[in-house]
Amino acid sequence: MLKGAITIQANNLYDIKSVLTQIEQVSQFSQDNAGITRLAFTPADYQARNYIISLMQTSGLTVHIDAIGNIIGRFVPEGTDSSPAVATGSHLDTVPSGGKYDGVLGIVCGLAAINRLKSQSDIRHPLEVIVFAAKESSRFNLPTIGSKAMAGLVTAATLNAIKDQDGIALAAELAAIGFQTKQISTASRSKNSIKGFVELHIEQGQVLEQGRIRIGIVDKVSAPTRLKITVRGTAGHSSVAPIEERQDALVSAAMIILAVRNIAAEYEYQGTVATVTILKTYPGSINVIPGQVEMWVDIRGTEHESVIEILQEIKDAVSSIADDYNTPVAIEVLSSEKPILLDDTINQIMEAACCKLKQTSVRLDSRVSHDAMNIAHIAPAGVLLIPCKDGISYNACQEAAPEDIAAGLDVLTEILYQLAK
Ligand SMILES: [Zn+2]
Repeated sequence: MLKGAITIQANNLYDIKSVLTQIEQVSQFSQDNAGITRLAFTPADYQARNYIISLMQTSGLTVHIDAIGNIIGRFVPEGTDSSPAVATGSHLDTVPSGGKYDGVLGIVCGLAAINRLKSQSDIRHPLEVIVFAAKESSRFNLPTIGSKAMAGLVTAATLNAIKDQDGIALAAELAAIGFQTKQISTASRSKNSIKGFVELHIEQGQVLEQGRIRIGIVDKVSAPTRLKITVRGTAGHSSVAPIEERQDALVSAAMIILAVRNIAAEYEYQGTVATVTILKTYPGSINVIPGQVEMWVDIRGTEHESVIEILQEIKDAVSSIADDYNTPVAIEVLSSEKPILLDDTINQIMEAACCKLKQTSVRLDSRVSHDAMNIAHIAPAGVLLIPCKDGISYNACQEAAPEDIAAGLDVLTEILYQLAK
């Protein structure tokens, strides 16, 4: 349901009504009607990006696109150009059939907050709202690519190896917007270029909703560890081979799925979980015993030791199943990132802002990755959460209440003001 150009009103870009309208308008940019599907660097993503660029320009921000495709909208009060920026932002790309608030909220509220602060005479730092490119791993299997590049955490060699499931290279998508992967270092920013970064996001959990708390302040963000498991069996006619003599790769895979689920249930109290998310069966014919299965596992935890332990338990269980069913297994660790501790000074500013604006708040950990966790490598960074209905995320049913969005915008504006004045 790709739609055409949208007329942008120049006035009141800072009020909550405009924010809600902008969220609705961005939700129109989708590859299909089953929720919102806006995978990175697809036509729908470009439509959303161009719309936000128009809003930035209408707001009087200068717009810069870096070598990974991050969009940086910058407002520079007179005489502050050489000062480090106070920045906010999030992402526009989605998972398949995702929700309309995930990522978009942080961008439109960030822009509204800057529009509110533009008229303040005591702002001493440039203000930036950043659209991080390719945050979701749905297309290229690597999460938070744009913020990784900004923090200098990804190399040209890594980027050159990245392809989507159709074999389209990330490098080709970057070339289409005029960048070469060898330029990637130009997207990285120095440690003194950002004074502070705050990302506003929906919670994607139920701590706030169940506790009737308006604002979540994140202490620690989990980072994903990803595995690819390949199970090898022997393909054969499904009506001939005796059951006990088969090397059925899918039967082994089923045991592995259950083992991952049961191990994850044991570790959940430590804040660590694991999920088998993708399964591919070969040759994939109705009358052939599966000869090979590829499966992908996503592990999340806010305690690194716990992630290491669950990883080892999964490896042990997989190895044991491989022996029991005579189906050799290969395990490839695709990525292993450490949980990130966010900046306590920023979090104290967030708490003070909530206090001043009479909004309830709580400190919590986030099992969900955010771009802020990469920016934390180069600047003091924080994540501000508002409730989402029933904790539903990565789903078309995702909802956030207008009064919570309004509170999030107010608190974000106050935090940026405290950092920038
Ligand atoms: Zn998000």
